[in-house]
Amino acid sequence: MMNEKNLTIGSTVALPKAELDHLLADLRSNGYQTVGPRLQDECIVYKEIESLQDLPRGLLSEQKPASYRLIQTGQDRYFDFIPAGQSWKQFLFPPRQHLFSAQKNSSEVHAEGHTAGRNTKWQIKADDAPTPRYALVGVRACELAAIAVQDRVFMRSDFTDPIYRARREGLFILAVNCLHPNATCFCVSMGTGPRHKAGFDLCLTEMDDLFLVEAGSELGLSLLARRTYELPSAFVQTAANRATELAAGKMGRSLDTSDLPGVLTGHLDAERWNQVAKRCLSCANCTQVCPTCFCWEAFDKTDVLGNKTSRERVWDSCFNPNFSYVFGGNTRPNIRSRYRQWLTHKLGAWKGQFDVLGCVGCGRCITWCPVGIDLTEEVAAIRQEVKA
Ligand code: SF4
Ligand code: SF4
Repeated sequence: MMNEKNLTIGSTVALPKAELDHLLADLRSNGYQTVGPRLQDECIVYKEIESLQDLPRGLLSEQKPASYRLIQTGQDRYFDFIPAGQSWKQFLFPPRQHLFSAQKNSSEVHAEGHTAGRNTKWQIKADDAPTPRYALVGVRACELAAIAVQDRVFMRSDFTDPIYRARREGLFILAVNCLHPNATCFCVSMGTGPRHKAGFDLCLTEMDDLFLVEAGSELGLSLLARRTYELPSAFVQTAANRATELAAGKMGRSLDTSDLPGVLTGHLDAERWNQVAKRCLSCANCTQVCPTCFCWEAFDKTDVLGNKTSRERVWDSCFNPNFSYVFGGNTRPNIRSRYRQWLTHKLGAWKGQFDVLGCVGCGRCITWCPVGIDLTEEVAAIRQEVKA
């Protein structure tokens, strides 16, 4: 083992797997909450982790439309599965977020010796909970692309969401290159994966007996320099490159992205919208699992006497029938209009709004749709119909 001190950003080292424990401990002692994949209820969820022992070990995932299962391999490997329904957006844009509370203070107003009325003031108390600093462990390339999409939504030049920004600015990203894409993956079509290019602090490629780790930031570099590692042999480096190339060739699906906005928004009367509406349950699963969907609603919780209230931001969905209810009327009263809104926004209008498509090819909406609706199939069918 050696400890080379002249690493630079872009350097890759070979790290014994047990060293990841020390890396996580270092992150925690630097004030980060380390969150990563854990096995729970036969599924992968993202939760607090402290060591390798907390990570799912020896698991592959198999995903198809409306189907997800884990397969035991017995191998000493920690990142072979494809993530499940949860995404990292819950840590930057929490599903439920307290915004502020308000307390009514009334006092009697006296004039000429008698009560002349009441003076009422509302005292507003902003949410002052400390912003968590997360280190996300095991971020896939499509997931990092999804964070970049949400950056464009929440940190625009004309408006920045303060909650998102505070969480985003404190973020440490320990990325992982995907080696076992599933049947629902199409990140190659979207140009988002399976290999990371930039935007991470550290990036792992898992080999059988070690991690290859690339430094992507000064902070990542300084943490890596404290670990015991070797410089990788040409053989290991070639094997890792080959593994990520093979992964790119194993995409389960593809999506033709040429002129997507035009194909979808230009054909709002296509027959295919009627067909998909007969299958869609408007359950909103696809929007809740999607790492880029960002709609929310604000709710007030007021006490019976009307003296105290608090406001919360909660994830919403364009599939929610009430989502488009305005002034006594619903602009999207049926499932056809709601499904069409979702797809034409994701793959059409989103581009005009944020100069990027709203899909990164993670496949979650296909896996977690209870009736297996597959947006790649829907787009292909609309293309076919409008060409005919
Ligand atoms: S639309 Fe579907 S495939 Fe695309 S990013 Fe969202 S969940 Fe993933
Ligand atoms: S497409 Fe599937 S997941 Fe999305 S609302 Fe319809 S039934 Fe639910």
